[in-house]
Amino acid sequence: MYHSVVEDPGRLADSLDGISHSRQVFEEQMELLAREFHPIPLDQVRRFVLGHSNLPQRSVVISFDDGYADNYDIALPILDRLGIPSVFYVTVDCVERRTMPWPSRLRYSFRRTKKKSWTDPEGKRWSMEKADSREQAFLTACDRVCQLAGTALENCLTTLEEELDAKLPNDSGQLMITWEQIRNLARRGHIVGSHTMTHPNMAYLRNEDATREFADSKKRIEMQMNAPIEHFAYPCPALFPSWSQETVEGSRLAGYQTAVTTNRGPVRKGHEPLLLNRVPPSKTIDGLRWNLEKAFAERAG
Ligand SMILES: [Zn+2]
Repeated sequence: MYHSVVEDPGRLADSLDGISHSRQVFEEQMELLAREFHPIPLDQVRRFVLGHSNLPQRSVVISFDDGYADNYDIALPILDRLGIPSVFYVTVDCVERRTMPWPSRLRYSFRRTKKKSWTDPEGKRWSMEKADSREQAFLTACDRVCQLAGTALENCLTTLEEELDAKLPNDSGQLMITWEQIRNLARRGHIVGSHTMTHPNMAYLRNEDATREFADSKKRIEMQMNAPIEHFAYPCPALFPSWSQETVEGSRLAGYQTAVTTNRGPVRKGHEPLLLNRVPPSKTIDGLRWNLEKAFAERAG
């Protein structure tokens, strides 16, 4: 479960925080996977969990969430050199409007604001003078924003950016992948999936908003790719969990074949293909090895 791969993860700490890997670590992790594991394309997983086919020992799928341009510029050459098939889940609004996913925008505003305090909609006043209070206020705001979608989400975010008088620079939108790059991923044999339109917590949305996030994102990507989009990744921006029995049904109705969550663990035969576990990648080589060995040990047990 990767997000972004950059030369210097520290440079983007106020927006991407912990979700960037350094190119060097990523490359070594991919070499480890190519050497000691068995990377497979995602579409084989559905047949496996449904009991229609087996997979090679120690099979792994590499996935990327959100849709950062670095997936194309930095990760792709490494994946292609090693022959590793991957799946890239893109957030449609971020691609089309050239903006970063909202948690990055909000994190930046709370970290960079020069205001001394911020008052939340319940009237509680948060000091902006201490890092931990800023972080708590940020998390509180995330809990609210993640339940919105579409225009309501964007309006709420804009209000917060104005209240804090700090806004992620517009050129940060260049960090998002373009449709042309996404088409190239598919041309090189990788899978493209949906990560919604606006990156909400699907389980906390009103039904009509959830339906729209599933269906519109699928339609928009299909239009741009001229190919069916069958795979979905649940955003996990705040609150837990970010899926439910209703969202599983919603994803099925929208026509998805698989959906991945941020639930940690291995994928076994008999698992619901629309609620697949994932393994966190860790920021070290040994950490990734450990996470994978642990997952495979659990699977055997
Ligand atoms: Zn995401």
